[in-house]
Parts: sequence; structure tokens; C-alpha cells
Amino acid sequence: MKVCKFGGSSVADENQIRKVKEILDSDPERTIVVVSAPGKRNKADKKVTDMLYECVALASDGRACRPVFNEIRKRYLEIAKGLSIEAPELEKALAEVENNIDAGLGRDYAGSRGEYLNAVLISKYLGYEFIDAQECIIINDDGTVDPVTYEKLGERFKEGGRYCLPGFYGATKAGSVKTFSRGGSDISGAIAARAAGADLYENWTDVSGMLAADPRIVDSPRGVEVLTYKQVRELAEVGASVFHEEAIAPVIPLGIRINIRNTNRPGDEGTLIVPELDSSELIGVSAKGGFTKVSIRKMMLFKRRGVRHAFFTALHLFGVTPSFSLFGVDSIVILFSSSQASDRVVEDMCARLKKDFALDEVSYERGQAVLGIVGGRMNESTAFIDVATALKKERIAISFVNHGASDVTTLFGVKDDEKERAVQVIYSALFK
Ligand code: ASP
Repeated sequence: MKVCKFGGSSVADENQIRKVKEILDSDPERTIVVVSAPGKRNKADKKVTDMLYECVALASDGRACRPVFNEIRKRYLEIAKGLSIEAPELEKALAEVENNIDAGLGRDYAGSRGEYLNAVLISKYLGYEFIDAQECIIINDDGTVDPVTYEKLGERFKEGGRYCLPGFYGATKAGSVKTFSRGGSDISGAIAARAAGADLYENWTDVSGMLAADPRIVDSPRGVEVLTYKQVRELAEVGASVFHEEAIAPVIPLGIRINIRNTNRPGDEGTLIVPELDSSELIGVSAKGGFTKVSIRKMMLFKRRGVRHAFFTALHLFGVTPSFSLFGVDSIVILFSSSQASDRVVEDMCARLKKDFALDEVSYERGQAVLGIVGGRMNESTAFIDVATALKKERIAISFVNHGASDVTTLFGVKDDEKERAVQVIYSALFK
């Protein structure tokens, strides 16, 4: 059997939801459906989830959320009407959500209601049984999934019916609603696939799978037919955003394959994500900006025992968690997301490091980006030579290279304002 997750644009209005039904009806294996909240119908439109967060902001200012909530109400009622669903319980549910937001039930509750209301509607339209994620999906304080989830949900699926679940949320151990991070319905779909022991997890979205580069940066990049769990994670880490990077974890133990497909072009095969691949093919290039680089140097730095540990602990005290790090003979370089520390905090942190570690040098630079070349057997690949040559020719300075630490990525550091040009240059050098 197959678990199908439909993203926000696939369930944004009644026409899209009709396509969902056609897709499900065309394959009897598609028995479990996970849905997002209605997303954007066009570029200028708003996602229901964003509007719900606007409602929370109003409520926390002590104002009624009605002006924004009415827009939300209108969207659901339009969908119900368009699909000819008689849903008196929908109006009741809408009223209840509005009251609860006004009463201050907060972000997790409000954010989750976009999916909840949509799943109530869609399950009715499809004739699938509705399962509330709050009853079955348990999310730990750190955002990870409690394993008891798979038993609870598996128990429900055992009856062998057709089920529709809202994505994006579950409950804390104590039972109150808790959401995943944004885009988290991908995680819910993966959880359902694991609990059901699915043969395939189909993730339906508005693009025909993953591309070798961001189409906003590179003109018509080529598609990716197949890649591995690890490669998806590492692509996401450097900015590619088709699939939530935390949505791989639930399917790993069962090795369930994931197929990213396009609701608007159901004939396209999309991208297949598999556990392992014996291939050295290059998959894609991606970039993520907004990093700060801190470099420290001291003669015989590593003579001091436990210095690496002490260094990372010191960073932690300033709220800094590095995304990438490099060790030299007498030096350490780290990159962290700039939003973690203001200029003032970075200044204080550097002064403190200099003093505590008696450093010879410490410096920092804002506005850094990391580019990742993702492929197979990257630690043996010489693609980085072509990349370096191409970047040099275009006079794009490389601030670091990390090759060999991963078998699926080679990383390059460049300046934030050059990252898009760098992606274009690398794409031309490696994929054209
Ligand atoms: N509706 C949520 C969001 O906009 C979750 C999702 O669509 O996956 O982030």
C-alpha cells in the first residue's frame, strides 16, 4: 500500500482537491492520505497557516482575530461549497477555532488548525475515515517523534480501511497540540508511512520532483530521477527545499522509498528517494547564505587536552551552534547561522574566546554562504577541481573547501552576495 501526502498547493482550493481525488481513485493502493492546510492559489495569495499565525498575533495584542479569521472562514466555506459537501460541523469547528484563538490558546494550537479543518473536509469528500493526529502522533519536547506514535497509529491502520490525517501536528506527551517546524506535513506523511509499513511514500507537490539546482537561480535545471536519503538530507542542509529534511528519519528503519510527484502533472514520474545507491553520479548544487564565520588561531592550539570540547561549549554559552566546522593544524573555523548572534554578541564572544583560550588571533566575518555539491562517492570525486577552476575563472573567491568529510557532499564557502552567481557557474561547469 501507498501513503500519499498532499502539500498546501495541492489542496489549496476545490479544483486542486478534485485532482487529489482523481489521483487516489486511479490507484487502489493509495489508502492513506495526509493533507496540508490550504496553501497559495497564486503568487499573491496567502497560506492559511500564515493567516492563522496572524490571528495569534492579533489575539496576543488583546484584539479579536475576526478580521483575519473571516478570510480563513471564507476559504474553507468556498472549498466545501465547490465540492458540494454539506458540512454543518465545519461551521461549528470554525467558530470553535476562532473562539479558542481569541481565548489565547496560542501558536501551536492555531497553526495546527489549518490542517485539521482541511482534513475534516477532505476526508468527508473522499469518503476516507478521519484520524486526528493529536490522538496518535506524540512529539517530544525537542521536536522528535516519540516511538509510541508508530504503535498508536499502526493500531488504527490495522483495520485496513482508508484514512485521511491532517499533517503538521501531533500532541505533547501531556496531550496538548504541538506542531512540527514549518513544512512539517512531510514529516507527518513519513510517520504515517512507517506506521502503516507502506511500500511507498508518495509526496505530492507542485513540481515534478527535485531539480539539480534552484530554478529561480538557474534557468531550466535538469531533474533528478533518483537519489538517496543521505543526499536529500545534505541537499536540504545547503538550501534545497522541496522536501523537509527531518522527514527522512521516520522511513529509514523500514527503508521505505519516497516518490516526490506533481499533483498538476500526475503523469510525470517525479523523483525517487531510495535508501542506498551504488553510483558516483552528481546530483545537484545548492546554496545557503546568512552565515557568520569565526576563525581562531593559536600556536599548538590542540596541545591543550579537550580544547575542541571546551571551544564548542564556550560557543554554546553565547547561543551559537555551528552548522559547519573545519580544523587546521593550529586553527578552527566555524560557520553558524547569523541569526543566532547579534554583532554585539559576536564581539563579546570573540573577546571572551581570545581571553579564555589565550588565542593569537580571532576574527569573524558576516555575510558568508555555503555551497554544496551533492552526488555519489564525493570523497573520491574530482569534481571539486572543476568547481574551483570555474569559480576562479569568474573571480569568485572561495573562503573554504570541505572535501572528504562526507561521501555525498563537497562544500565550498563563498560570500553571500556571490552565492547565486556561484551556483550558476558551478551548474554550468558540472551539469551542462
Ligand atoms: N501548513 C504548514 C506550513 O505552511 C505545514 C505544511 O504545509 O507542511 O508550514
